[in-house]
Amino acid sequence: MSTVTLTREGHIGVIMINNPPINATSHSVREGIVDALDQIDADPVINVAILICAGKTFIAGADVSEFGQPPKAPILPNVIKCLEASTKPVIAAIHGHALGGGLEVALGCHYRIADKSAKLGLPEVNLGLIPGAGGTVRLPRLVPVHDAISMITSGKPVSSTKANEIGLIDAICHGALLDAAKDFAQTIQKLDLPVPLIAREPVKAPSADEWDSITTTTIKKARGQVAPVVAIDAIRTGIDEDAQTGLTFERQKFVELRDSDQSKALRHIFFAERSVGKLPEIDGVAPNTIREVGVIGGGIMGAGIATASLLAGFNVTIIERNDEACANGRATVEKHLSGSVKRGLITQDRFDQLLAAFSTSTDYAALRNADLVVEAVFEDMNVKHDVFGKLSLHCKADAVLASNTSYLDINEIAAKCVNPGRVIGLHFFSPAHIMKLLEVVHTDKANAKSLATAFAFGRALGKIAVPCGVCDGFIGNRIMSAYRKHCEYMLEDGALPHQIDDAMVEFGFPMGLFAMQDMAGLEISWATRKRLAPFRDPAERYVALGDYLCEMGRFGKKNGLGWYRYDETGKAQPAPEVDTLVIAESEKKGITRRSFSHDEIIHTILTAMRNEGDKIVAEGVARSPDAIDVVMVNGYGFPRHKGGPMYLTRN
Ligand code: NAD
Repeated sequence: MSTVTLTREGHIGVIMINNPPINATSHSVREGIVDALDQIDADPVINVAILICAGKTFIAGADVSEFGQPPKAPILPNVIKCLEASTKPVIAAIHGHALGGGLEVALGCHYRIADKSAKLGLPEVNLGLIPGAGGTVRLPRLVPVHDAISMITSGKPVSSTKANEIGLIDAICHGALLDAAKDFAQTIQKLDLPVPLIAREPVKAPSADEWDSITTTTIKKARGQVAPVVAIDAIRTGIDEDAQTGLTFERQKFVELRDSDQSKALRHIFFAERSVGKLPEIDGVAPNTIREVGVIGGGIMGAGIATASLLAGFNVTIIERNDEACANGRATVEKHLSGSVKRGLITQDRFDQLLAAFSTSTDYAALRNADLVVEAVFEDMNVKHDVFGKLSLHCKADAVLASNTSYLDINEIAAKCVNPGRVIGLHFFSPAHIMKLLEVVHTDKANAKSLATAFAFGRALGKIAVPCGVCDGFIGNRIMSAYRKHCEYMLEDGALPHQIDDAMVEFGFPMGLFAMQDMAGLEISWATRKRLAPFRDPAERYVALGDYLCEMGRFGKKNGLGWYRYDETGKAQPAPEVDTLVIAESEKKGITRRSFSHDEIIHTILTAMRNEGDKIVAEGVARSPDAIDVVMVNGYGFPRHKGGPMYLTRN
């Protein structure tokens, strides 16, 4: 069946694209649109055309199977030129997503209308690219330039409400889209053909000073990623020079970026994220239906997990130790949800509905109908056993029971439960209602149904769920422990904390290891080290600097002193007294300090990550090197445009 059909309804020609699943701009679609436009042009009866898509969405991107193939005419920029050159007005009728080439097609049309739930965006930067079919030139001629810059450099789509506000669409439709498009066609068919975007002036172009500040902010935000900065150049060229020069420049940069290392790395992580949760053993296994979610513990993690579950539409009950702890848990959840209202993610009405779906209790009997429970109590095996004992007693036999433990052995937790096949790990990252990563820990006895349910839950929460086996620290914390050890060795061998952190930030991490430790608080890992001290191999090199800091009462950012000192605004300054402590420790151990270049620091960190990653894959804890990349990019700040430690250090 053809992917593009043209039907005539009176004076209206309806170009229908049907190229599931995302109506990508495949060759047949490009060709089909041009053919349909030729027919419309030649047909004296048709005086207006509607371009609309079948299925769940408008055109939501390019055809990935064509990546790396030589371009086949008509290429997308020329299809868009044909749309713009049409002698009859074309209305893009958008539902679902109009993304990338999809939005560029819509920009080639004379009018755009969209369903109220539609999203429109130019997400190319996420793949290390810029729009390649006129997006950087046409968008700032339709919406204010600063909105165009924000959409193109962030890659984030906008809602149809926002699109309507900024003039990206001409109307929001309620009800059936095609009917609305036909009504709209009646209102415009007698009007003069609008001036094509390419021939218009930019909307509110920035001054030279504003451009400078936009460029500086973009460079800072991009943290080494090239595409957003090139996007600014492209937008500016199309404005400062002329549209045609802009189009040529954009295409040239698009082609250059497509072949760049950054784009290859970003494509790697994009596909890795989409394949990492596809497990053969749960293929075709129906997950349990989840309506009621229980969360044990309403502390930092529990409240975040409860918030994420509420936002995903589940009824949620937090179980806490006493009424005061329940009230604290409730207050944190309310604070998180208010944050979502403030950021415009949910309405006040939705906030009220979510709170109505939320309860707290000190009685486990409140979980009798729970379909899935996540435990997030203190990191102590005895407390965990106690909790899972109560869950075994009070929950339905097939309720999936998950632990959010960071380091404890979930097999041991499962062993004491009734029906251990339903016990799994769901390792969230803080803040749990924001961080995308979720490690789904496969215990030895976990059955396929529980795993399938855990992955379905992760998907419902909008998380990237990565399967992993039981081990100390799972994937992410284990890799972090390994490279932390080598960073500590570097301290004793001659580096200073802020030098290591500076090298990491320069590489593209949002912050360095020591600043991150200060933020998390130093006393928790201190307690763990003290607990594990009796089991430590005395022959293994041990760096005690973190212990000294805690003994001095330096617990990190929360009390203003850690590896750094913090001013009243919370800004970190290198602490000379810590440098002195580090240097004294080298002396004490008889180590001659030497200097470390940023390159050597990064090489040491990457090698440590790679070596531990290889072990994790060999042990089957991670199913592939890709899983490690996904974890490190989404949970540990590894720069996305470098693809992850395994990808970057591949042979
Ligand atoms: P937290 O101290 O902030 O919260 C723990 C909560 O559990 C407290 O509110 C406490 O009152 C409650 N609690 C303790 N015993 C209980 C019981 N028997 N019944 C009901 N409630 C009980 O701790 P947290 O940081 O939220 O960590 C919770 C778990 O999540 C730990 O296992 C931790 O290792 C893990 N984790 C923490 C992080 C993090 O960044 N904080 C990240 C991933 C995983």
